[in-house]
Amino acid sequence: MTRVFHRHLRSTPPVAVSAAGMRIYDAAGRSYLDASGGAAVSSLGHGHPDVIAAMHAQIDRLPYAHTSFFTSETAERLADELIRTAPEGMSHVYLVSGGSEAVESALKMARQYFVEIGQPQRTHFIARRQSYHGNTLGALAVGGNEWRRAPFAPILVAATHLAPCYPYREQRADETPEQYGLRLAAELDAAIVAQGADSVIAFVAETVGGATAGVLTPVPGYFKAVREVCDKHGVLLILDEVMCGMGRTGTLYASEQEDVVPDLVTIAKGLGGGYQPIGAVLAQRKIVDAMSKGSGFFQHGHTYLGHPVACAAALAVQNVIHRDGLLEKVRADGRALGAMLRVALGGHPNVGDIRGRGFFWGIELVADRASKRPFAPALKVNATIKKDAMARGLLCYPFGGTVDGVHGDHVLLAPPFIASREDLQEITRLLT
Ligand code: PMP
Repeated sequence: MTRVFHRHLRSTPPVAVSAAGMRIYDAAGRSYLDASGGAAVSSLGHGHPDVIAAMHAQIDRLPYAHTSFFTSETAERLADELIRTAPEGMSHVYLVSGGSEAVESALKMARQYFVEIGQPQRTHFIARRQSYHGNTLGALAVGGNEWRRAPFAPILVAATHLAPCYPYREQRADETPEQYGLRLAAELDAAIVAQGADSVIAFVAETVGGATAGVLTPVPGYFKAVREVCDKHGVLLILDEVMCGMGRTGTLYASEQEDVVPDLVTIAKGLGGGYQPIGAVLAQRKIVDAMSKGSGFFQHGHTYLGHPVACAAALAVQNVIHRDGLLEKVRADGRALGAMLRVALGGHPNVGDIRGRGFFWGIELVADRASKRPFAPALKVNATIKKDAMARGLLCYPFGGTVDGVHGDHVLLAPPFIASREDLQEITRLLT
């Protein structure tokens, strides 16, 4: 048994020893084709020479400098680059070490913003079911998974969870996708009013839902309507793009495809591409202005924020994405991957839905296609799929039914952007 404190205390995973490009190798000499990018992390694959060279150069020059004394040239260059390509109006970047820290920071920034502008009565968040925002206490509180929250519920900040945008299960037969999106936005409106409009801090949502729902792509107009509801009540909109951002859906930010501009957006995972833990919050100018004119500082911080080596890795990832035209590639090859999955799996009696964008695909598994009945949680279908896929030399990211037994099991695919058409065909073949 391993001495490393894994989450699953009764099993020992294989020992990873090396990785290159699309593959990871274990100590027993087995090779795995990486169709999950870890958990949508390794956007450039493993061992990208440009990222490694940038990290080496940074370690040689300036490995670390604490932000109570310094900023660094590399952190400033990364922030400039992120602002250059950010959703409209973003003025500052808060650099942290991962996704949960990014979400935690965004929640606190939103709260402090209202304190600075004289609305301290705002204490409540509204978020969505079947969402995942991280495991720190704030991020957990807005996360939509009751099973994860349960042991900690008495010590979490106040949050209400609404339905996610999940057309496969929740759009009615008598409504169009647009009407469905407007209905959800109306539910948000009603929830804000019920809570007391002047007591809500923010609505928090993944732009494209990630691991806990098997990739939930929003219907057209949903986020635009959500933005209008938030504006009507002076509530902030926080979009969590930790998983779906940084090119995963074919644009740098998934929000670009929704024609929506958030007040705060969180990124991580693909930002460092797996080379270094890094995350960030991008903030609208009004939020940073309120703090700089008010107390003059953000009352929050972590030792490793703006770590120069992490920033060097992230900057190199950004450079490669743009230099190599990877966003265009992900859009074109993502359509091809979707078509391959539909041809190979669309007719399978246990495949209920195949949905996604770019290199971010979810396959929802059901016991019965007609009724969309999920498999019984006790069958642990997702765990079996993960095990079988690994035995075939494939890494995919299954999640599901054991959590609530209502919304089925899913397989999430998030391959590195460097995947060739042959790799995508191989992924599809190994899944069938
Ligand atoms: N937000 C989203 C949307 C995520 O998918 C995740 C991680 N799966 C997180 C936040 C938390 O990120 P981390 O695990 O890096 O703390």
